[in-house]
Amino acid sequence: MNVDQLKRIRFKGFMAEDEAMRLYELSREASRFGPCLEIGSYCGGSAAYLGFGCREAGGVLFSIDHHEGSEEQQPGQEYFDSDLLDPATGQIDTLPTFRKTIRELGLGDTVIPIISRSVVVARFWTTPLSLIFIDGGHTFEAAFNDYNVWVSHLLPGGYLLIHDIFPDPAQGGQAPRCIYRMAFDSGLFEELPMTRTLGVLRRASAGAPTDCSKMRWAEHH
Ligand code: MG
Repeated sequence: MNVDQLKRIRFKGFMAEDEAMRLYELSREASRFGPCLEIGSYCGGSAAYLGFGCREAGGVLFSIDHHEGSEEQQPGQEYFDSDLLDPATGQIDTLPTFRKTIRELGLGDTVIPIISRSVVVARFWTTPLSLIFIDGGHTFEAAFNDYNVWVSHLLPGGYLLIHDIFPDPAQGGQAPRCIYRMAFDSGLFEELPMTRTLGVLRRASAGAPTDCSKMRWAEHH
C-alpha cells in the first residue's frame, strides 16, 4: 500500500487529510536521522501517516499513549466514542483499535507502541529524536508537561510538531498554542508554515542562529 491508498482509509480521530500528509512528509525526511516520537496515539490515524513516512526512510516511530482516553474523551464528554468502551471495565481503551490499525497497515516493525503516560516514559529516555509530535492531553498541565519533558531530546535540525493550535480561543483550547509560543520564544526554533492547526517548528542546527534569536540579540543593542 502507498500513501495515496492510505488516504482512502477513514481513521477515527481528529486530523485533517492535509495535516496527516504533512506528518508523512516530515517524518519521511526526519526519520533518516533518528527515531520519531508521537505523544497521543489514540486509534492510530496519525501513527499511520508518520509510520508510512518512517518506513519509506527506514526509520521507526515510538507512539506513546496510556490508551485510557484524554479528559474530553470520557463518557459524557464532548469527544466520547462508545465504540472505544471496554465492556469488561466500562472504561475507554483505545489500544485494541490502535493495534488493529498498525497490524492491518503492516507497520508492526515500524511503529512501536509504548503504553504509558508520557512523563513516566521520559524519566529514563536517552535516545535523541529526529521528530516529536505532541498531540496528547489538551489541558495546560498535560501539554506543558509533554513539551517540558521531551523537548530536550530533540536533535538539532529536528522537528517539533504541535497539533490543535487555534489562534481564536472560540475554535479550541489554547494549551497547544501556548507551548508552541514558549518553544518559539526560546529562540531555539525556526517557525515553518503551519498546515491548518498543525504547528511546525524546526530546532536550529549548529552554527545557524534562528530569526527569533537574532531578534532578541538586536533588542540588546
Ligand atoms: Mg489533535
